[in-house]
Amino acid sequence: MKLATSPAAKELGAEVRREAMRIAGDAVHSERVIAVHYPYSGEIVATVPRAGVDDVRRAIRIARDYRPRLTRHERYRILMRAGELIAQRKDAIARQITLESGLCLKDSTYEVGRASDVLLFAAQQALVDDGQSFACDLTHHGKQRRVHTMREPLQGVISAITPFNHPLNQVIHKVAPAVATNNRMVLKPSEKTPLAALTLADILYEAGLPPPMLSVVTGEPAEIADEMLTHPDVDLVSFTGGVAIGKHIAARAVYKRQVLELGGNDPLVVMDDADVNKAADLAASGSYKNSGQRCTAVKRIFVHQRLADDFTQALLERTRAWRHGDPLDPKVDMGTVIDERAAMLFERRVADAVAQGARLLHGNQREGALYAPTLLDQVRGAMEVVQQETFGPVSPVMTFKDVDDAIAQVNSTAFGLSSGVCSNRLDDIMRFVRELHVGSVNVWEVPGYRLESTPFGGIKDSGLGYKEGVQEACKSFTNVKTYSLPW
Ligand code: NAD
Repeated sequence: MKLATSPAAKELGAEVRREAMRIAGDAVHSERVIAVHYPYSGEIVATVPRAGVDDVRRAIRIARDYRPRLTRHERYRILMRAGELIAQRKDAIARQITLESGLCLKDSTYEVGRASDVLLFAAQQALVDDGQSFACDLTHHGKQRRVHTMREPLQGVISAITPFNHPLNQVIHKVAPAVATNNRMVLKPSEKTPLAALTLADILYEAGLPPPMLSVVTGEPAEIADEMLTHPDVDLVSFTGGVAIGKHIAARAVYKRQVLELGGNDPLVVMDDADVNKAADLAASGSYKNSGQRCTAVKRIFVHQRLADDFTQALLERTRAWRHGDPLDPKVDMGTVIDERAAMLFERRVADAVAQGARLLHGNQREGALYAPTLLDQVRGAMEVVQQETFGPVSPVMTFKDVDDAIAQVNSTAFGLSSGVCSNRLDDIMRFVRELHVGSVNVWEVPGYRLESTPFGGIKDSGLGYKEGVQEACKSFTNVKTYSLPW
């Protein structure tokens, strides 16, 4: 197999391959590897083991047979130490994320910073004793007893499956709460971006995590994913990814707890009292950051018809100024999307929209996986570019006439993840908060705004309503046990 040609990529490839081989251990034969490509150049930057079903079974068995006994303080120390190590190695990890995903260094550096936050919040959560105590003499048939609750880690193993778009952050949002709650996890990162997960596992081991608490299996989903969904020792499947695979998992992982964080098609609503420049700043960053590959990226922009021209002009200026290009250039605002196939899909959807009457104001140019920030207006809700999740840097502008119309248009897709609203009128704002069929409403913020600890997740096709975010994940990853005492 041909390895990377650039010296930096070659160095990274060798290092990651060594780490990966160590994690997967001797079950992996050297010829069974998958290649990780740098989307900007197409070169191979690393190879990782291509695990088979037996490797997955072995990882699950190792996890099942181990009973973590870490105290809260020990879990806190491991998570805090891992956070320190990540902060120390921020630049190297960001570079690795850029090489495996094509995300620009600005985006990957931001992602590494978020990962440190997740570890901090998970460490704090490890210290929280959220047991409750209930007096039992509350009714006429009450007794002089008390019921107490405590949270326990799951009996079985957690299967975690993550997408490509935040190679580190999606992974750490599953791993850190698992460590905080003394669980054992087998993780399968995206086959497109498996390197950050391997790096994170090594950092956690270095910080003192007992290795059976976390195994990373890398491989082709067609070969290994089903075992992770159906193995009898798996109690919980925690999945982040697209709707199609999420629904497949929902049907396949029978009698297992499921946390499914799926696709989005998030709106930014710009009301007629909004400051168009402020709103256009949010629209541009919401649409183009992370190459538009955030589940909560701005995917549909609804502008009050009175503001439409001014707003679109302001967004056009920002779109033109959004520098895209070489992901390793620290000045660049946007790198590539994940691969050429994805970029070609956006190109085709935008061309179809234009053929159906939309107006292309900027972009829709492609060079391999490099796809320009793209702005179009006069878009209608029935066009594929907004009916489906267009998981790239495309900014489609639509108009509405009043609040009822805006709410109806926002609610007209199958998705219901998050939203942003630009208005200062509290009566309108509260209507959006109450009537949008979504998991979050951010006023004067992008839909993606969140703390790493706050509840996060969607409804409808975007998820079953169980949240992630460190606090909620710790709840999903534990069982509540009650015990009652006569005192
Ligand atoms: P994807 O659904 O194609 O893949 C996600 C993961 O599922 C990968 O690890 C993949 O290997 C695995 N997989 C593939 N086939 C499988 C199978 N049969 N059984 C089990 N697992 C299987 O998603 P993607 O393209 O990597 O990521 C983009 C999608 O993720 C977008 O739709 C985005 O909105 C969504 N996403 C959602 C959130 C959220 O929190 N709601 C966050 C980030 C991304």
